[in-house]
Amino acid sequence: MELRIQNLSKRYPNGTQALADVTLTVRPGMFGLLGPNGAGKSTLMRTLATLQEADSGSATLGNIDVLRDKDAVRRVLGYLPQDFGLYPKVSAEDLLEHLATLKGISQAKERKARVSALLNQTNLYAARKKPLGSFSGGMRQRFGIAQALLGNPQLLIVDEPTAGLDPEERVRFHNLLADIGQDVIVILSTHIVADVHELCSQMAVLDKGRVLLAGEPQEAISRL
Ligand code: ADP
Ligand code: ADP
Repeated sequence: MELRIQNLSKRYPNGTQALADVTLTVRPGMFGLLGPNGAGKSTLMRTLATLQEADSGSATLGNIDVLRDKDAVRRVLGYLPQDFGLYPKVSAEDLLEHLATLKGISQAKERKARVSALLNQTNLYAARKKPLGSFSGGMRQRFGIAQALLGNPQLLIVDEPTAGLDPEERVRFHNLLADIGQDVIVILSTHIVADVHELCSQMAVLDKGRVLLAGEPQEAISRL
């Protein structure tokens, strides 16, 4: 499955051209979306996550028309937004259980197994009974990945996940991302070149809504 974005443009009502003719092909594996603040990264990710509309252009994920068939996208999407909010008094385990119910995993046994597996995968099993409000920044981001993986997504979008993490938590978070199956398309937006260098097999640089360059990190970064 490939994600093909073609000539995607978006101008906000105040005149800001957030995306200008963005064309990109994204294959399974980790795709790094680099760019300074204001480059259009969040706009692109929110558009792909069906949370906002583009003005023109197209995007397809396999057979899915991403801009039109929002329900189909949401069935295969995992999304960790930049401003990921939590219910501070609820435990990690209880919230994942609740989200799993919403996802339609109706059998209690299956739900418990799925939640335990995700808590293990994200190294949060020991903290599963603790209220989310007591979590560190790194734990919060790992929990964000756990919730994003609940539905076994084909497309996982993570927006600036390592901003504000300390070096140890950043490495932990990188290891978690690196463990996600190779058949999933993972789009990681960041302004840190090293994130892309360490993790990604494909990348693009966005600036003022335009794709400055795209390719394999080794080669592309040398052209920056
Ligand atoms: P970042 O630049 O860190 O990615 P965003 O641009 O996503 O942050 O901004 C956070 C929120 O503020 C979003 O909901 C976005 O739509 C809104 N926002 C950002 N810039 C503007 C702006 N110039 N006018 C109105 N809303 C804005
Ligand atoms: P990034 O995620 O790379 O920081 P964004 O997509 O958040 O970039 O923003 C791209 C541009 O669009 C910025 O100039 C930002 O201020 C502007 N912008 C973002 N959201 C809004 C909004 N809701 N209304 C107006 N301008 C916005």
